[in-house]
Amino acid sequence: MNKRDYYEILGLSKNATDEEIKRAFRKLAKQYHPDINKEPGAEEKFKEIGEAYAVLSDPAKRRQYDQFGHAAFQNGGGGSAGGFSGFDASDINLDDILNDLFGGAFGGFGFGGSRSRSTSGSRSSRGKDIRVVLNLTFEEAAFGCEKDIKLDLTAECSKCHGKGGFGEKTCKTCGGAGRVLEQQQTIFGYMQTQKTCPECRGAGKTFESVCDDCRGKGVVFKTKTLTVTIPEGVDEGFQLRLSGKGNAGVNGGSNGDVFIEFKIKEHPLFERDGADIYLEVPVTITDAALGCKKEIPTLTGNVILDIKPGTQNYTKLKLKGKGLKTPNSFGRGNMYAVINIIIPTKLDRKQKSLLQDLAKTDLEDSPEFRNFRKYLN
Ligand SMILES: [Zn+2]
Ligand SMILES: [Zn+2]
Repeated sequence: MNKRDYYEILGLSKNATDEEIKRAFRKLAKQYHPDINKEPGAEEKFKEIGEAYAVLSDPAKRRQYDQFGHAAFQNGGGGSAGGFSGFDASDINLDDILNDLFGGAFGGFGFGGSRSRSTSGSRSSRGKDIRVVLNLTFEEAAFGCEKDIKLDLTAECSKCHGKGGFGEKTCKTCGGAGRVLEQQQTIFGYMQTQKTCPECRGAGKTFESVCDDCRGKGVVFKTKTLTVTIPEGVDEGFQLRLSGKGNAGVNGGSNGDVFIEFKIKEHPLFERDGADIYLEVPVTITDAALGCKKEIPTLTGNVILDIKPGTQNYTKLKLKGKGLKTPNSFGRGNMYAVINIIIPTKLDRKQKSLLQDLAKTDLEDSPEFRNFRKYLN
């Protein structure tokens, strides 16, 4: 069989990062997952994607593949191609890969595995958590906002309401216990061992008909949009938890959670430190020397800043309560206006002459200058 290049299958270049491989796989797996895509050939395509992912997501296998191509995995390994042993593409368990990415909801898609299942199985498991990084503007983070986030996840099957089938009845083979006793003849005589009921796979019940939307799994794979209220004052490093909004639990297991983290865009003027806001205020030399009233922006509109005569560079003026409220703080933080005295670089004739007149006066009558002069030889 002529096999396609794994990178080509995932639409990636040879130097794709692990993250890119994962992303490409998630996207394609979603597109061709037999739960969603009923077109002929989708399942084959899905398996092809799974195989490519299984190899490229494993650093050792990927190295082998980069070096030897598909030959690395033929002949069942055997060590002929670069000492790689024990790997065969047909060993890949797509269920494991999907369960790892989307939570423990997938069964029945393994290569060569059985796809028909009479019941949903007994193992109840919690749905996997989902982590999302959300991009926010400075203002969105400061004031809070509503955001729609798109999630690829497993959700309870709406047709069978998560049961996996219809006409539930007690399993005849195990009488509902989910386990059966097996007698084995050993050299010590007959031994009784317990094993999972092969009929109901431990669930203790079977269905008259298995749900064909979820094929007995009780969950389906889908893309869901969640509208999330982001509280005011979130910051990078904060985590918002949406309890139970993650992947659906299986067989009565609880749903996973969604954890939202934030990436916040810088503001051209305001800088944030927790609940406090810093603003650099450009001030002329004369305003700093003579004092002035200066209009400055805050997050909640303009205010007049009172700059005292003789204000030094980098003086921090506090505007109480003009900062942010954060999920961790009680009151609001403060805003600090940081004075940045701008020395003029272009002077016209008149300005120059005025400054020259000023220079003739004694501007060095201050402790800083006096102290400095002491150390001159
Ligand atoms: Zn169903
Ligand atoms: Zn049974």
